[in-house]
Amino acid sequence: DVIRKEDIQKARLKLPILAEEQQIMETINENFVVILAGETGSGKTTQVPQFLYEAGFALKKQIGVTEPRRVAAISMSRRVAEEMNLSTREVSYLIRFEGNVTDDTKIKFMTDGVLLKEVQSDFLLSKYSVIILDEAHERSVYTDILIGLLSRIVPLRHKKGDPLKLIVMSATLRLEDFTINQRLFKNPPAVIKVNARQYPVTIHFNKRTNENYLKEAFNKAVKINTKLPDGGILIFVTGQQEVNSLVRKLRKTFPLRHKSKLLEKDEEMKNERDANYTSDDEDIENDLKKTLKKSKKLKIIPQIDLDDYSVPDDTENNSDTDLSDSEEDSQAPLLPITNAQPLWTLPLYSLLPSHKQQKVFEAPPPGCRLCVVSTNVAETSLTIPNVKYVVDSGKTKVKMYDKVTGVTSYVVDWTSKASADQRAGRAGRLGPGHCYRLYSSAVFNDTFQLFSIPEIQQKPVDDLYLQMKCMNIDKVVNFPFPTAPDLLQLKSAEARLETLGALKGGEVTALGRAVSKFPVLPRYGKMLALSHQQDLLAYTICLVAALSVQEVLLEVPILQTSPEEKKQIRQKWSATRRQWAGQGNSLFLGDNMVLLKAVGAAEYANSQGKLETFCAENGLRQKAVVEIRKLRQQLTTVIKNNVPESEVIVDPKLPPPTDLQAKLLRQILLAGMGDQVAKKISPEEVKEGEDKAKFKYAYHANNMEEPVFLHQGSVLKKTLPEFVVYQEIYETNKMYMRGVTAIEPEWLATYVPSMCNLS
Ligand code: ADP
Ligand code: MG
Repeated sequence: DVIRKEDIQKARLKLPILAEEQQIMETINENFVVILAGETGSGKTTQVPQFLYEAGFALKKQIGVTEPRRVAAISMSRRVAEEMNLSTREVSYLIRFEGNVTDDTKIKFMTDGVLLKEVQSDFLLSKYSVIILDEAHERSVYTDILIGLLSRIVPLRHKKGDPLKLIVMSATLRLEDFTINQRLFKNPPAVIKVNARQYPVTIHFNKRTNENYLKEAFNKAVKINTKLPDGGILIFVTGQQEVNSLVRKLRKTFPLRHKSKLLEKDEEMKNERDANYTSDDEDIENDLKKTLKKSKKLKIIPQIDLDDYSVPDDTENNSDTDLSDSEEDSQAPLLPITNAQPLWTLPLYSLLPSHKQQKVFEAPPPGCRLCVVSTNVAETSLTIPNVKYVVDSGKTKVKMYDKVTGVTSYVVDWTSKASADQRAGRAGRLGPGHCYRLYSSAVFNDTFQLFSIPEIQQKPVDDLYLQMKCMNIDKVVNFPFPTAPDLLQLKSAEARLETLGALKGGEVTALGRAVSKFPVLPRYGKMLALSHQQDLLAYTICLVAALSVQEVLLEVPILQTSPEEKKQIRQKWSATRRQWAGQGNSLFLGDNMVLLKAVGAAEYANSQGKLETFCAENGLRQKAVVEIRKLRQQLTTVIKNNVPESEVIVDPKLPPPTDLQAKLLRQILLAGMGDQVAKKISPEEVKEGEDKAKFKYAYHANNMEEPVFLHQGSVLKKTLPEFVVYQEIYETNKMYMRGVTAIEPEWLATYVPSMCNLS
């Protein structure tokens, strides 16, 4: 029996889904597959696992819940444990790098990728009595595949007399892809719709669409906090850097502490401003001046302590909610606005450490208004309490992928109508709310797509293709995808896997099977499989782990300092990186040597208890270092399980590779990335009339018409090797190669026979 705390029970009773418990459980008992659609915040994720638990689904087997986002898996497992008064031994989570699952686990939250790996070793998922695929509307690749697989697993379990229930949970978006898809479910599954208590949200479009949506977002937040009644603010922008910069500006503008004397404060703030603001901020300053001018008189708040906040009393006078986007000029200096309520401003994005993410669920300090600046994480997966105002930039950042060339680029683009409506809906949980869209209704109507494109149609499917082949799915083309990837994507994945040697004539090879066991891309799996033979494993594990984690080495300091200081920091970082690259084969290992040394040095610093300073001083993302460590551990375990005689360990004091080892690592990189070779464009090849200097760092990559370039920070810019392999090509103002290593032309014949025509 579950005994819940009183306040938790009270909060639960307010959730619309609780009134539907009986109907939901009846439908689940009578059907094998149930689709549960309900507005975000109606209580699906936190309550349905509890319903199932109380109905006895965890008595003999586990209740499995998948989330596309790691943030959600961690945060929801904690919340459900808390609500049920159970420990995290019983309500646990498992994501790629970490987890707290035990033998006592009854409800297991995991990322969809984790469950997909489990299908590989236990196709019938026999330790589960029920699987919930949450956030299915997000259309993440893994959830899509899992729906397809489970549509087959459920009948198989039924036939064995050991039934498995499948519950697909989603916001009320585009259900038809799941419900009227005959290939997926021959008999249409049962559908339950939960009506959320959603208060009306008034949508305010901007009259004009200002390109600088960050500035617009800032202005809007300032206006809300200075003019509108109580209620949290949720701002949607596109990425981590945008989130951080907006948070900083808002914290400066609405500080939590105030000095008691105006003059003193004036002086101090001016100095601080001069030190911290660059010309980019001028526009924002102008707007602030305007806001300041309008405020009748500055009211000085006595100095306050972090746990003693006083509430300014004149913030609720103006209930005009139509905040126009008019412009106005003034000469007053930028000052913190002290006659407004202090703003408790928090960032939220997926790479944020999880204890910081949890902060958005806590009440702000007394007297403060909550303001969360978020990426689209807050769109559907996390419901932030007490939001009354949503500020929507209308933008989203997507990783675009060219199906033919493999070039990736991050593009900031308009989100879909469906997403924009989801974002607006976040304002109507508490009571009637307002959504300020920083774009015009014309842009919304004419430019926004109805729905976002499912992820499976936007990225390479190599790892999926191989995993499916290993599950004996012969014709991947015939797999019951909710939305199928296009044929070109499947064909090029197959071709790359053939080149890699993971497939031969469409059949999985022994290498392919080995490769598929690793929780990394097939090309990295191959590097691991090869290193075993050459006794280089410790280095390859470290390198593969580092290559599998995003943004390990920063290029630009995130610190808020002057451009001059930023430049100095960058110069210091690149000097260190050149030193890390070393000489000889080590230097030729290039960007990847830098990565290896950076990880090695960071681990050493960590063993001395100095990780944080080390990362800050050398431009490493600390969370990345921690993830790399976990992935190294995990890869090591996988290898030990498959090759028991292997003696590899994760050594925090791994010495740098010797010259010979560095050379072997270059060959291993070539073996894994043989389809990503580029050849230097010689001056003779530059066309008549073209500026030769522009082609100094230019290469010709296979598949690509346009030249690609060594990136700004590459340690190989001085050497300019004739042949290189690269980790990926990305596009900003030009095409750049990331993760570059020099290779010798004579190696091509051995490692990538099909590429020999290049040399
Ligand atoms: P859905 O899955 O339907 O979007 P959820 O089950 O995630 O809804 O959320 C139900 C309610 O639980 C929301 O009001 C949300 O704010 C609250 N909630 C979720 N996680 C937490 C948490 N960690 N702390 C406090 N409240 C939370
Ligand atoms: Mg949910």
